[in-house]
Amino acid sequence: MASLSDLPIRDDLRGLTPYGAPQKHVRYALNVNENTHPIPEAVARDIVTSLAHAVLTANRYPDREFTALRESLADYLGHGLTREHVWAANGSNEIIQQLLQAFGGPGRRVLGFPPTYSMHPIITAGVGSTWVTAERDADFEIGPETAVRAIERHTPDLVFLCAPNNPTGTGLSLETIAAAYDATDGIVFVDEAYAEFMPKDRPTALTLLPGRERLVVSRTMSKAFAFAGVRVGYLAADPVIADALRLVRLPYHLSALTQAAAVAALAHTPEMLAMVDDIIGQRDRIIAELPELGYRPWASEANFVLFDGVDDPQATFNALLERDILIRDVGISNALRVTAGTAAETEFFLRSLAELGPGGAR
Ligand SMILES: *Cc1c(COP(=O)(O)O)cnc(C)c1O
Repeated sequence: MASLSDLPIRDDLRGLTPYGAPQKHVRYALNVNENTHPIPEAVARDIVTSLAHAVLTANRYPDREFTALRESLADYLGHGLTREHVWAANGSNEIIQQLLQAFGGPGRRVLGFPPTYSMHPIITAGVGSTWVTAERDADFEIGPETAVRAIERHTPDLVFLCAPNNPTGTGLSLETIAAAYDATDGIVFVDEAYAEFMPKDRPTALTLLPGRERLVVSRTMSKAFAFAGVRVGYLAADPVIADALRLVRLPYHLSALTQAAAVAALAHTPEMLAMVDDIIGQRDRIIAELPELGYRPWASEANFVLFDGVDDPQATFNALLERDILIRDVGISNALRVTAGTAAETEFFLRSLAELGPGGAR
């Protein structure tokens, strides 16, 4: 077998590593922040009926503008948004890719604040843009001054904010987003993949959209909506943003089956989101109980918890894996991240961690 260096691959891709969260078959998969609750059977039946209808006309290309889906997503989002403000793709990862194809590309700079979502730099590299970084404040916060200073220093073409932030769970204030917007002529992108898990008093960046045509807010059906396997992400922005993305997207990028499944699921929003409060309860339980085991969890506004105080993250990761639990080593020293799932999953995770003793496995 040949190696990558035998190929005439782009110079700027040499030496890069692909996204690689382990995909292992374990009883307790708490590593990629999925909703661990299955789709309710009544909803699944409705989705299958819609899929069956869509299959009957699958000899034709799908609606290139996925009008019904954008209508459903706009209804779901509220905030006075219409289908013109909404764009969708195969996961929010593809939303980010299209955004970078339109507004990034070779020679342009994307500013991020690590530790943050690992796909942001990877998709940036994929379109030939440069990922530049700035430090966060204490406890992974980003205050308005910190954001503005970083923008003035790096003069990026796009600013990437993740709110709540993955992998830390940290929330982000509207003041910081608005200050970032005022400090740049570029695109300000807010990744709200975990918005449904935010505290009720935390306003979404959607409220900042009116009058800000360079602000883009993305969401996904992969997390709260228990739809990770279907691949549906979307954004809300001024309608002119969708015009930019129409220049770079592949025609018919959302299959008829994806559109049908997503519209059917959105018609059952209350059932699909019924578990969100339970998951928030499990997240808060993890945060409450980890200190009793000697760990320091960070505050989280998402469906996962990052915790410090792990002597040897790889050893603890492996010891939990032996107990059929998969969590995430996100490369932060002495820390690990765990997804909040069902009550039974939380119980088993906490009990197993307790059995490893203070500091975890060595
Ligand atoms: C999980 C996650 C996504 C979701 O990506 P999809 O492609 O929609 O599955 C996006 N952004 C962040 C920060 C995430 O953690």
